[in-house]
Amino acid sequence: MEVSIKHSAKLLEQANHIVLTTHIHPDGDAMGSLLALYAYLLAQGKCVKMLLDDEVPRSFKFLVDWDKIEGPQDMVHEVDLLVILDASDLERIGKVKEVVKAPMLNIDHHVSNLKFADYWYIDSQAAATGELIYQLLIEVDAVITGNMAAALFTAIATDCGFFRYANTSAQTLKIASELVTLGAKPHMISESLDTKPRAVIEILPKVLETLEVIDCGANGQIAMLTLSQDILANFKDETEGFINYPRNIEGVEIAIMFKETGERSIRVSLRSKSVDVSALALAFGGGGHARAAGCTITEPLSKAKALIIDAAKRQMAKTAGVNHAQRDN
Ligand code: 5GP
Ligand code: MN
Repeated sequence: MEVSIKHSAKLLEQANHIVLTTHIHPDGDAMGSLLALYAYLLAQGKCVKMLLDDEVPRSFKFLVDWDKIEGPQDMVHEVDLLVILDASDLERIGKVKEVVKAPMLNIDHHVSNLKFADYWYIDSQAAATGELIYQLLIEVDAVITGNMAAALFTAIATDCGFFRYANTSAQTLKIASELVTLGAKPHMISESLDTKPRAVIEILPKVLETLEVIDCGANGQIAMLTLSQDILANFKDETEGFINYPRNIEGVEIAIMFKETGERSIRVSLRSKSVDVSALALAFGGGGHARAAGCTITEPLSKAKALIIDAAKRQMAKTAGVNHAQRDN
């Protein structure tokens, strides 16, 4: 059932043993939301555990308590509530769903959310799940420490491209401002996120060599990067900003990054200027937001590329059709 922020707070208050989790391939919003809510519940004297079916990416290890995050090895018994953050479908939490059998509360902001949990609080207008966690903490009059503020600022800033993307609202900026008042240091956070091992910068020429651009006439262009298994071998977690290169090319409507994580396992990242790529990703079992989405295709690289390019072209034509119809009305 759908719940309010108030009701979500009540569910947390009534629970004693709480497990928090978030999606695999965690991003800044996943990590920051998880760690901020963990800190609050711990301060409330709750028995709380963070489980994640993935590694914590190197770039988020500046956030306090990242090392308390555990893998879902064994069954966790007698859990009152499983809180699922920033995940739009149950598959996204991987094995955590197998080791924890408890009522689920899902707090999320994806427009593609499948409403799979027992209780859900979803606000697709929010730029980040971090905004929702902030509202929840305000609702319960929580003491927000500097570390919690830093985690939430990271969550929000990373999901809106440091306040540049279309999801950045007045509310996003207001919350960010309040988090700075509470001790978040934007320059330190952005520096931590931007600092990379030298090898990641040195791989860039190889990555950019894979750039392909398809011209779709009046509908705009599709630009792609393809990271084969050998490029990826040492850079699994470090591909975060690469998609911005095709995205920023003049005339490009949809940017795509293909990552060959296995022989028949292709991770696809999608970005757009106006086309709804969440619908495109959803059609392949993924999800996301209108202008940033992703999915995994279990086909060889060339087949996966053909499928996605074809779907992207169709989505672009559809959007162009809608725009024409609106203009003609
Ligand atoms: P990214 O391209 O950065 O991995 O993901 C962009 C957005 O799409 C994020 O909000 C992310 O949560 C969502 N997303 C990416 N891959 C998947 C997927 O396989 N399933 C779902 N449901 N969402 C995804
Ligand atoms: Mn998010």
